[in-house]
Amino acid sequence: MSKVIVSPLYDSDVFRMACRQFDLAADAINLPEAIRDRTKWPKRCLAVSLPIRRDDGSISVFEGYRVQHSLSTGPSKGGIRFHPGVTIGEVAALAMWMSWKCSLVGLPYGGAKGGVIVDPAQLSTAEMERLSRRYIQELIPFIGPQVDVPAPDMGTNETIMGWMVDTYSSHVGHLEPAIVTGKPLALGGSQGRREATGAGVAYLLKRYLEDMGIPVAEATVAIQGFGNVGAETAAALDQYGARIVAISDHTAAFHHAAGINVRRALEYVRYNKVLRDFDGGTPITNEELLTLKCTAVVPAAIERVITPEIAARLQCRILAEAANGPTTNEADRVLDARGDIELIPDILCNSGGVIVSYFEWLQNLQHFYWSRDEVLTKLFALLDKAKESVAYQQRKFKFSRRLAALTLGIGRVAEAKQSRGLFP
Ligand code: GLU
Repeated sequence: MSKVIVSPLYDSDVFRMACRQFDLAADAINLPEAIRDRTKWPKRCLAVSLPIRRDDGSISVFEGYRVQHSLSTGPSKGGIRFHPGVTIGEVAALAMWMSWKCSLVGLPYGGAKGGVIVDPAQLSTAEMERLSRRYIQELIPFIGPQVDVPAPDMGTNETIMGWMVDTYSSHVGHLEPAIVTGKPLALGGSQGRREATGAGVAYLLKRYLEDMGIPVAEATVAIQGFGNVGAETAAALDQYGARIVAISDHTAAFHHAAGINVRRALEYVRYNKVLRDFDGGTPITNEELLTLKCTAVVPAAIERVITPEIAARLQCRILAEAANGPTTNEADRVLDARGDIELIPDILCNSGGVIVSYFEWLQNLQHFYWSRDEVLTKLFALLDKAKESVAYQQRKFKFSRRLAALTLGIGRVAEAKQSRGLFP
C-alpha cells in the first residue's frame, strides 16, 4: 500500500507543524492506520484568481483559497483571512485546526479556512468591497449553509461579512444569512459574536487562574496582537480587573507596569488603525513583550511566534493561545520539559469565536434570536464543558494539555469517519 508522506500542494512550515501535531496525537491514542490519512489530509480546496477594478481604473488580480479539511460531521466552518503572507499551506493548516477545534468543543461542523493574499491597508474601502464580493462569488459553487460556512479571521470583519451575505443572497434570490457568520446584527448577526473569541479567551484564563489559586484581579497580562481577538481579550480581562501590562500589534509594542489604559488603547486604535506612536506605555520589542515577567502571556496574532528560544525564556505562569498555532512543535517540547508553564492550547483557548458562530448559524436557521446574556451564558457553559473534558483526558492518559485537546478533537473526527464507513 503506498502512503502519502508529504503533500506537495500544502507543504510549508505551518502545514508540517499541524501534521506533526496530528501524528503525535494519532500515535498517543493508537489511531488505527486505516483511518489516519483519511482523517489527516484536507478533503478539498479551491484556488481562485480575483480580478478587481482599482479606484484609478486599472485592474489588479489577487489570489485566494478555500480549504475544506473535513465534511464528515457537518458543514465545514472557518474564517477568511486577508493578509499579504497567506499561502495555501497556511490555509490548510488553519482548516485542520478548525476541524479539531469544532470537534473538541462538540460543534456539528468540520473545519475549513479561506484566505486572500492581500494587504488590506493598501486597498480603499471600495476596493475592499469589490475584492470581498469577487472572492465570495468565486466560492459560490463550493460553499453553502449546509456545505461550508465562512466567517471573519485576520484582516476581515463584520462589514466584509455583510458584503458577502449580499453577494451570495443576490445569487440565490433571497436573503441567506446562514451563509456566513460574524455578520452585522442587522443582517442576522448574533449578539456577542464580535467579542466572542476574546471573551472566551479571558473567561478560560480566569478559570485556569482560579484553578491555580490566583485571583484574576491580581493577574498581570501581556497580549501580543491588538486586532479583534487581542483587543477584545484585553477589554474582557480589564473588566475582570486584571492588569494588562503590555500590548502590541505589527507596528509597535508597549509596556506599562502599572497597567495600560485599555479603554484609551482601544480608542487610539479605532482612530489610528494601528498602535504606532501610542503614548500609553514605554516602547518595547515584541520579544521583550513575550518574555515579560507576568502572570500570563497571550499570543493573539500569527502562527509560530513562540519559538524554542522564546519558550526557553518565557517568564509567565500561563501561556494562553488566543492565536491559531502560535507555538512551534519544537517550542512545545521546551515547554513540556520545563513543566512550569500552564498552556491553554489554541483549539480550546480561542474556540469562543466559532462557538458563537455556531449559535449565530443556529439562530439564522431557526429565525429566532437570543439575547447577549443568553449567548454568553451558553458560551461559558460550553467552554467549561470543553475545559473539563480536556482535564479528564489529561488525567486519564497522563497527557500534556495540548495532547489532551488534540487527541479529543482528532479522535472524535476519526470516530465519525469510521462510523460512516468508506463509500463505495
Ligand atoms: N476565524 C475564527 C477561528 O479561527 C472563527 C471561525 C468561525 O467563526 O467560523 O476560529
